[in-house]
Amino acid sequence: MSARRKAVAEGVAYWWRGRLHSEREAPQLAIPLKLVKIEAVEWLCPKCGARAEWDPEPRCPRCGARCEPRTLVEEVPELVDAMEALERAFNRVCKARVRGAVLLEPFSPLLPLFAWRVLDVELPDGSRLVGVYAGKPRFLKRGFHTGDGSTTTFELPGNLAAIVWSGGVVECLVFEVEEPQKLVELLSG
Ligand SMILES: [Zn+2]
Repeated sequence: MSARRKAVAEGVAYWWRGRLHSEREAPQLAIPLKLVKIEAVEWLCPKCGARAEWDPEPRCPRCGARCEPRTLVEEVPELVDAMEALERAFNRVCKARVRGAVLLEPFSPLLPLFAWRVLDVELPDGSRLVGVYAGKPRFLKRGFHTGDGSTTTFELPGNLAAIVWSGGVVECLVFEVEEPQKLVELLSG
């Protein structure tokens, strides 16, 4: 029995770097995702069994016969956003809670005042975890919106910052976790 089939039977799959795992073989930071049922229709040739590419009334690409629809029920992992995915992953290792998020790019007036550990970890929604920082995240806030050029700093509550890249936007997601250093090490490993 493959890992995927087994995971389907349990109704939950563990997602890590683009692959699904069963609970037993899932890496420590794998993200638990519910499997949801979706219906899909495929068009098959009644004569030779070939699959047509499109509908309506598709023709068989091999023999030209009219194809017939067949409904499939598939179980696919639910799509969760980066923040939810990371909170679930961190919670498998230690207690973790979301504490906030700030936009860093492209035109953000915020400059992070910390150096993050560079990573490249794909998340289920297609975004990428590109860095982590263990400690209180502090930012320099540039006041160019008001035209006075002033700067201030501010901190977000929490002790683990996750830098996520998603479609051209970079966000800093902040979590309060029990073991920030351990999570950084696991993510870097
Ligand atoms: Zn055919």
